[in-house]
Amino acid sequence: MRATLVGLLALALPSCADEPRRIDIELSDTEDLTVIPVEHVSHGDRIVFALPRNVLGFSIVSFGHEYETGVGVYRVVSPSGIRFVDDYRVGRHPALILSHRIVSAAAVPQTDAFGTMDIEPGDWHAVFGGSMDRAELWIRRTEDGRFHGGTVDVDAYVAPDILDNQDSYVASVVEATFPWAGLALGEVRYLSLPAVYTIMDPTEFEEALAVTSGESRPVLNVLFVALLDEPNPNGTIGGKTPRVPAYPYSGTPASGIAVTLWGSHDDDIHKFRHEMGHFMGLFHTTEYHAVADPLFDTPECNNAVIGNTPLECPDADNLMFPSPIGQKLTESQKQVIQASSTYRGLLSTPSNVLADHPTASDTGRFFSPSADQWWYPWCPRSAPHIARTLALDSETAARAVSIAIDQSLPVAVRERALQVVVYSGRADVRAILGELATAGDVPKNIQLRAQLELWKISKRRL
Ligand SMILES: [Zn+2]
Repeated sequence: MRATLVGLLALALPSCADEPRRIDIELSDTEDLTVIPVEHVSHGDRIVFALPRNVLGFSIVSFGHEYETGVGVYRVVSPSGIRFVDDYRVGRHPALILSHRIVSAAAVPQTDAFGTMDIEPGDWHAVFGGSMDRAELWIRRTEDGRFHGGTVDVDAYVAPDILDNQDSYVASVVEATFPWAGLALGEVRYLSLPAVYTIMDPTEFEEALAVTSGESRPVLNVLFVALLDEPNPNGTIGGKTPRVPAYPYSGTPASGIAVTLWGSHDDDIHKFRHEMGHFMGLFHTTEYHAVADPLFDTPECNNAVIGNTPLECPDADNLMFPSPIGQKLTESQKQVIQASSTYRGLLSTPSNVLADHPTASDTGRFFSPSADQWWYPWCPRSAPHIARTLALDSETAARAVSIAIDQSLPVAVRERALQVVVYSGRADVRAILGELATAGDVPKNIQLRAQLELWKISKRRL
């Protein structure tokens, strides 16, 4: 499960010679979210805005027009002078880049540094960078500056031919994903995605998000697809977020998430929540190259452990672990979610206090020491490497195929097994894939993956 964190940072540092432009902030007494447009912004422009008490969180969204260059928030400085965002990065973290094409957002809090979890009142400064056109400030408040619950409106865009009975299945996944992190499910609309998106590549992902068309209020667009087709030898991509955080209005390349449906209820809910976490501003607790998130209360894993035995990481049970198997969220992670712009919030104490959804996943189920660990998607050895090491004799190939069709195993494991077969370069790989692509008793995802790989092989040979 991957968020697009690669930004476009070709531009020089914005100049800070001019006085900042002051943006007047008037928060409505009756609304939880106030959106303040900031027109005519260009590279290097600075703004200053005074936040009152009782602000739960805010986002600064920058918009550009050129697809080739990035736009972003270069710097965000608190009234006390702390730089939460600097050089497009959260907390000066080398990998956490906030510059993207067309739309880019920075949220406070995304770290738990002083002045963010309890938003410091007073003058905040922001500096923009890139081929900017305009910006928006999204400010969330409650009566007392504390979280009191809220609801997430979901527009579910569903591609055809993912699963049998998929309409009722998607509805059951959407409903069971909430309540989550104190948020309940709000209004839901079910919409169709064209068949071309059943298997979705990275270009199609942003293209499909850009044509989402919700009403002019925050909404979480979810593209439900069968497969995300991206080269990733380390495992199956179960879901995707365009930005961290992304943008909760429809019609931009950052307007939603994609979640693959595997037909396994717990897994599908899990992926949905993980991507929603990214969408609302959470990074992975630790990346595979051992970069940790900027939150103090999430455990982090050292490089050797995450590279070799990731299940031994202290954050392996966290929802935002890169190969998520657990549901845990820390208090700081919940606060990032609850400060985000993606829901309709309550201004004061609700009559029904929401509890977190009980943990659905059984962490042992994915990983047992006696299992063939190389099939597991987070195995640090890549599928091509495994294929070479095992040299895939006929017995191993048969084992790979039997794993691929074993309904009792997680789909990620089954797809991984199939990838190993594909990378093996065996003469009979087409025959194996052909069998899987057409057999009646094979799960749809595996059938589609086999069809896709066959198609790729035939293209290579043309
Ligand atoms: Zn992720």
